Amino acid sequence: MALNMRKRKLEKIPIFYESALTAACEEREIKTIHFKRLWKHIMTTPEKDVDFESMSQLPRALKKLLREKFTPCSSRLKKISHSKDRKTSKLLIELQDGNLIESVVIRHSDTRSGGHTVLCVSSQVGCRMGCTFCATGTMGLHANLNAGEIQEQLLIANRHVAKIRNIVFMGMGEPLDNWGAVKEAINGFYDGRKFGLSFQHMTVSTVGVISKMRLFSDTFPKVNLALSLHAGTQNVRKQIVPTSKAFTMSKLLDAVDYHNNKTGNKVFIEYLMIGNVNSSLNDAKELSERLKGRDVIVNLIPYNKTETGYDYEAPTLKQMEAFQKVMMDAGYYCTLRKTTVSGQDIDGACGQLAIKGLRKRDALDVESVVPDIKRSSSKEDTCIPPDMKRACCTKSCGSCSCECCASSSDGNTMLTLAAVGVGLLAYLRWLRK
Ligand code: SAH
Ligand code: SF4
Repeated sequence: MALNMRKRKLEKIPIFYESALTAACEEREIKTIHFKRLWKHIMTTPEKDVDFESMSQLPRALKKLLREKFTPCSSRLKKISHSKDRKTSKLLIELQDGNLIESVVIRHSDTRSGGHTVLCVSSQVGCRMGCTFCATGTMGLHANLNAGEIQEQLLIANRHVAKIRNIVFMGMGEPLDNWGAVKEAINGFYDGRKFGLSFQHMTVSTVGVISKMRLFSDTFPKVNLALSLHAGTQNVRKQIVPTSKAFTMSKLLDAVDYHNNKTGNKVFIEYLMIGNVNSSLNDAKELSERLKGRDVIVNLIPYNKTETGYDYEAPTLKQMEAFQKVMMDAGYYCTLRKTTVSGQDIDGACGQLAIKGLRKRDALDVESVVPDIKRSSSKEDTCIPPDMKRACCTKSCGSCSCECCASSSDGNTMLTLAAVGVGLLAYLRWLRK
């Protein structure tokens, strides 16, 4: 949990937050076999008609528990905006404690299978990584989402926009800085009793949290990994990604090697091109040198203007094409996203997701990010209701930081888009192959 971040007080627990539901049921000796029916009812029933009381097969004890402590969906769709070309929709979602997040839906119609729809999910309210080009980074970190809240974004998108096939963690936040919840959510997206998506249709984008990258590769060898590298040298990266002081280029590239070897899969290298920072031919040569021998796909993304207080320029198309040529001549598969991206008219493009008015109120010093990540491990800052704490602790959920959990001795052993994400278009192109 971030040092200065206020604990979240949640009145009701999302039913999709499976570890909390399991703990509560075990405490009352209720069988978890009923979960499938519960989730199915929520997903197939119009929101206003969801009613567990009328479900004849549910035990009375479970109905009582749900009434007292749980909610079918703790988040609420507050606003939806569609881009002019109707390909992109941005969802403003209000969490039960008033925090706001954004998710983005992108529709693709040009595939052999007749098209598919991608949801870009948020994992945090804001982000504490502080990348100097990113609107979300200007907010600082306000809260970690729990696994239920992450999955509810899919529930809401399925309900209000379209049936989603792909998930990308490229919305607000750094997913590997909220690993416990993200891990549970990925399993939830995959779970046939809930959404039944395939691992190959999910992508986690990270700015690079080394220890969690390895954990990710070990845990989800089939889920795609995208690394937001944005530079070919440590010196350039340090200027734009403050966390690279601790998570150096060489450590990140070791983690890329680890992923390649462990999973046999390519890593998507996301390279945000800022005209006056990292877009020269020399930058391209440095990048191609650093990536040599690695199994990667490079996605070049033009910087989208955001109000971060830096004098950054978007790259010219000429700069981008020249950069791409260097990479391709060196043998890399390298895609280039053109500057006009669907969604920009609704601030739904890369780096533009930020809740207006929310600034770095609770942000941490960047310097404190690394020790804090080590200390906090997978713990979420979500405080489940007081009388649930004991159940959670005794069942070692490892995903909350309620008082009991916080005081238990070895929390550290627990596993712990602003944007239509980086490389998204390229990634989708790749998926179509
Ligand atoms: N925290 C994760 C995922 C969320 S950010 C990460 O950084 O990878 C999603 C993507 O948006 C990142 O690749 C990031 O580089 C990109 N992005 C951020 N600000 C941007 C901007 N102003 N213009 C274009 N892309 C941006
Ligand atoms: Fe956080 Fe990613 Fe934005 Fe960096 S680019 S501040 S890691 S959301």
